[in-house]
Amino acid sequence: MFQSYLVPDIPGENSLYEQTMRRFDRAALKLKIDPSLYSIIRHPEREITVYIPVQMDDGTFRVYVGYRVHHSIARGPAKGGIRYAPDVCLDEVRALAAWMTMKCAIVNIPFGGGKGGIRCNPHELSLGELERLTRRYTAELLDILGPDRDIPAPDINTNEQIMAWLMDTYSMHARRTEMAVVTGKPLSIGGSRGRSDATGLGLAIIAEEACKVFHIDLPNSTIAIQGFGKVGSVAARYLYQMGARIVAVSDIHGAIYNPSGLDIPELLRYVREQQTVIHFPEAESISNEELLELEVDILIPAATENQITEANADRIKAKLILEGANGPTTIGADEILSAKGIHVVPDILANSGGVTVSYFEWVQDRQGFFWTEEEVTHRLRTMLVTAFEDVYKMAEEYNVTLRIGSYMVGLQRVYDVYRIRGIYA
Ligand code: NAD
Repeated sequence: MFQSYLVPDIPGENSLYEQTMRRFDRAALKLKIDPSLYSIIRHPEREITVYIPVQMDDGTFRVYVGYRVHHSIARGPAKGGIRYAPDVCLDEVRALAAWMTMKCAIVNIPFGGGKGGIRCNPHELSLGELERLTRRYTAELLDILGPDRDIPAPDINTNEQIMAWLMDTYSMHARRTEMAVVTGKPLSIGGSRGRSDATGLGLAIIAEEACKVFHIDLPNSTIAIQGFGKVGSVAARYLYQMGARIVAVSDIHGAIYNPSGLDIPELLRYVREQQTVIHFPEAESISNEELLELEVDILIPAATENQITEANADRIKAKLILEGANGPTTIGADEILSAKGIHVVPDILANSGGVTVSYFEWVQDRQGFFWTEEEVTHRLRTMLVTAFEDVYKMAEEYNVTLRIGSYMVGLQRVYDVYRIRGIYA
């Protein structure tokens, strides 16, 4: 009769957070950092669960559960997206927050790591319901949000409009317009040029760097992309412009394949109209599982977590995996891919273009001075190329994968800050 939205945490070894921590642990061991200080970094700083009452269009009330986790604010305000999805849980948000700490440290921006989410199916909500849900979630978090405290951004199923509602709600309570409280906003309210393309463009920039060191001829390469949303579709557009052949893409409804290469501009037009990639003319239908196992040069998982696992890693044939999504590869799959000689550019490096331009947006909002798209792109490229070089150097020096090399670069920077600041006790 009464539906409960209480969600249990997911403890145990297989939790996403525990998997993430095992990667942190490997980096910590390699770096030989002080285990007692490291144990602080291994825990989130703060977790907030909110129960959000929303009046539905039919007049009834429903309660949604939402989270905001600050993994670390040692290097600066917590930075990280908010996702709306039916399976959001605290364990996932916690892991995503920890990855944000790493990501911000790897690209060396003055932010810590945070993440948020609401357990809901946004596709079943009207625009009004979505707005009320977003505003109440924001109101519940007012004490921890702010340009110097915690700066959210879009993630799965959240967009510019949701960021605008969040900014407006915060501003109404602050009694002033506070643009820098959130990034990924529309341009008219302090968004940055280049933000919506940033993660996909960043993937393409990192692809160029990775192809150079792994001797892949990018302009003549073949690519499969899982997920055709804000990240996957933009990456497809840039990589297509670079001359690569995008042979397969997918979304939640299924995958399409054309070994001669998909016409990406045409596909983007098709998706704008049809809201899905399936049944695109001049392509055959395949399953999402088949897409992952195609014989391509580069595979880009850009959908969601746990897509490459112990169950399918052995059948992956790509030479290089670029993780557009957060956490698409499990720790067990990593071992298998590494043994097969498949290079993986991990999420915390490969998709860091988004948070980098979010940082630019925050800087511009605080200065009240806005940059051209060329300036944004130039600065993004410079920072990502440096981050790739830092990670590659670390991986070579310690003879570890790019994944562990990335964690080592990030963890060292975070650890140094804790060590120098000391622990207030
Ligand atoms: P999105 O909602 O815009 O797109 C997600 C896409 O993946 C959609 O095409 C959806 O249909 C598809 N999808 C979902 N589940 C799938 C499944 N099981 N199989 C195949 N396709 C599936 O989200 P997004 O912003 O593009 O984010 C995608 C991933 O990238 C997430 O892991 C997110 O955390 C990560 N990410 C996003 C950004 C950003 O700036 N948006 C930045 C860094 C990382």
